[in-house]
Amino acid sequence: MNRDAILEVKHLSKSFGANAVLKDIDFVVHPGDVTSIIGSSGSGKSTLLRCINLLETPTTGEILYHDKDITDRKMNAASYRTRVGMVFQNFNLFPHYSVMKNITDAPIHVQKRDKAQVYEEARALLKKMGLEDKENAYPCQLSGGQRQRVAIGRAIVRDPQVFLMDEPLSNLDAKLRGQMRVEISKLHQRLETTIIYVTHDQTEAMTLGTRIVVMKDGVIQQVDSPQNLYDKPCNKFVAGFIGAPQMNMIDAAVGKDGSDVTLSFGGHTVALPEGKAKKLEEAGYVGKTVTLGIRPEDLHDEESFLSMSPKSVFDATIRVYEMLGSEVLLYFDIEDANFVAKVNPRTTARPGDTIKLAMDLEKIHIFDKDTELVVLN
Ligand code: ADP
Ligand code: MG
Repeated sequence: MNRDAILEVKHLSKSFGANAVLKDIDFVVHPGDVTSIIGSSGSGKSTLLRCINLLETPTTGEILYHDKDITDRKMNAASYRTRVGMVFQNFNLFPHYSVMKNITDAPIHVQKRDKAQVYEEARALLKKMGLEDKENAYPCQLSGGQRQRVAIGRAIVRDPQVFLMDEPLSNLDAKLRGQMRVEISKLHQRLETTIIYVTHDQTEAMTLGTRIVVMKDGVIQQVDSPQNLYDKPCNKFVAGFIGAPQMNMIDAAVGKDGSDVTLSFGGHTVALPEGKAKKLEEAGYVGKTVTLGIRPEDLHDEESFLSMSPKSVFDATIRVYEMLGSEVLLYFDIEDANFVAKVNPRTTARPGDTIKLAMDLEKIHIFDKDTELVVLN
């Protein structure tokens, strides 16, 4: 039992026929947290959320809400349902109900709350969301962003203890998505409510989530804070999945040169700093090949950095130059591996130039080539 938890998913598995969609899912949701569930399309995110919302029955495992198993059919699930509000990807508004009726129908007819009071709340909410003139409109008369706000408003009026949101922004254009992301953040701060937020978008997951659950093929890879996921990925998948542009990765041979532990890749050899060298040697990797990972922002072209870390300097021939305003992306290849460096826009490097780059060796990640698990971060 976890006293701090509002919701606990324990050893949950779900199969559709022979298709095992969720495998031994285990995580805890703390009250007031935004738990982001992130994974590629088909990784089982919606199925997991539907299990939590009792729209699917898990094949095995439990879901505890305040320590009571809600998947137990003997228990009255109705009270749980009233405590949970779900916002779907396609909003699921009733097309033949007005905006007002969409928002007030469940509180009045399911929760049996006072009609005048619910209307008053709904009007205040519509005003707050800039929809005061849309009370009598039908969903088809609204833009995507407005529909989305109605869907969120409908969930808020039910005053749930837990919000479940399944890619609520994915049908919106990029600009609106950014605005609504901020709105959801504000909503969370204002209501101090618990949110489980499913998305395939890492910006949404990272900016909204206090904790992030990373899924792949129905299996949880890592549950962690946004910062830890970025700095200390537990395996190669998470390292590659979180961060844009993606972490650079290449096979590297681990060697020993005097007292130095070295990494050789694509004709370059770099010497590891002491702490990392010791860890890698002690783990028995000298003489083996590992996967070396380095984030684009941890490659440097400034003279000051190059002279400070001569043991990590290598040549790169720039293939593509991308100016993003606040930064420049330089693309180059090391053998078959595509690399990208995120550097200061004042760089003079252009396509065709061969420049010197240095790796911040304190920031490298090393993964076992076979298990793909992290050896050191
Ligand atoms: P995500 O939301 O991460 O994209 P889903 O949970 O929707 O993933 O789907 C995960 C897998 O489960 C997919 O392979 C999908 O085809 C399958 N699946 C989902 N719902 C059903 C269902 N009702 N019947 C059979 N297969 C399903
Ligand atoms: Mg989905």
